[in-house]
Amino acid sequence: MGTRATHWTVRLNARNRSVFFAVLFVVLAFYLAERGAAPLEWILLGVNLLIYPWVALFRARAARHQVRAELQNLLFDGFLFGIWVAYWGFPLWITFSVFTAVTLNQVVFESLRGLWHSLLALAAGAAIGLAIAGAHFRPDTSLPVSMLCIVGLTAYLWNFAYAAFTRGVALQDSRRQLEAQLTEITTLQEQLQDQASRDPLTGLYNRRHLEDRLADELNSCRRDGLPLTLVMVDIDQFKLVNDTYGHPTGDAILRELAGLLARRSGPRDVVFRYGGEEFLMMLPGVSLADAQARAEELRVECEATRVAVDDATITTTLSFGIANYPEHDLRSDALVELADRALYAAKVNGRNRIEFAEPGPTRG
Ligand code: GH3
Ligand code: MG
Ligand code: MG
Repeated sequence: MGTRATHWTVRLNARNRSVFFAVLFVVLAFYLAERGAAPLEWILLGVNLLIYPWVALFRARAARHQVRAELQNLLFDGFLFGIWVAYWGFPLWITFSVFTAVTLNQVVFESLRGLWHSLLALAAGAAIGLAIAGAHFRPDTSLPVSMLCIVGLTAYLWNFAYAAFTRGVALQDSRRQLEAQLTEITTLQEQLQDQASRDPLTGLYNRRHLEDRLADELNSCRRDGLPLTLVMVDIDQFKLVNDTYGHPTGDAILRELAGLLARRSGPRDVVFRYGGEEFLMMLPGVSLADAQARAEELRVECEATRVAVDDATITTTLSFGIANYPEHDLRSDALVELADRALYAAKVNGRNRIEFAEPGPTRG
């Protein structure tokens, strides 16, 4: 059998019980001595206050439901004290101290329900005490016993206040830790979300991100009465570059082009890596004519760029397909399709050129 952790409530109660029962034993020793109690009474009280706390601890520890067993222990504490105070004729200070301690403990663990439970336990014990000793009332205790009761009860209450304070501090600490963890998790989640929507090679947004983003931007352009232009860009004869200079060089050129497209885009524009060597520029608020001018600048710049690789210089050219909202279609997926078809036309018509979409059949 493996060792099981002791529940913190069991540990806390065991410590309090062993300490305060011992304190109570000292107080009651004065009381018993003054009354000239019989040896059996001494023995029983000793068993109750010095040995029983350990039995209670082992019982709770061994129980399947430690907290439930500990609640039973608390009620049994009250039951035993009920017997004693009734047996002694309800000495006022002793009864008050025990009553306060027992009910307080039960309320801490069971809320106000605990008050009724502990009162029932005390009453059940008192009924037994009365049955043993008969109904009698002896409220007076000597000044030393009364004083000791006051001191013991005060120490008990201070102990409660201290436990409440340390638990409050511990709760605050764990809340701070939880808050820090939550912040970390939120940051990680945001990073993950961003990673999921980006292409690892170029750092540009990927095609998955395009669908949501384009629908949003198109809606806002529609609301504001603005155009939106899509420019599909594809590297010409890129397979040849890969075949001639190797895949790593191809990757470097893809990164180079991604950088160029990003540098040439305005604050509202978004560039996506649409496919292998195919990019999509989403230009909200940009007219067909302005988009054409932008594409032409890019086409010329790319054509003029010489990328040095080892002892060779590579020049690539770009083909463009352009579709515009509201000129060619009103729906986002149709616009992408039209830009792609226009790009295909640019390829067919000789590459290194710009073509425009034909108005879609569903336009209007
Ligand atoms: P076209 O002018 O008709 O577009 O010819 P192309 O060779 O560019 O087009 P094709 O579709 O035949 O080939 C595209 C090439 O792009 C093939 C593939 O190896 C390359 N490619 C796609 N993704 C990557 C990538 O991530 N890295 C590299 N290095 N090459 C890639
Ligand atoms: Mg290509
Ligand atoms: Mg392609």
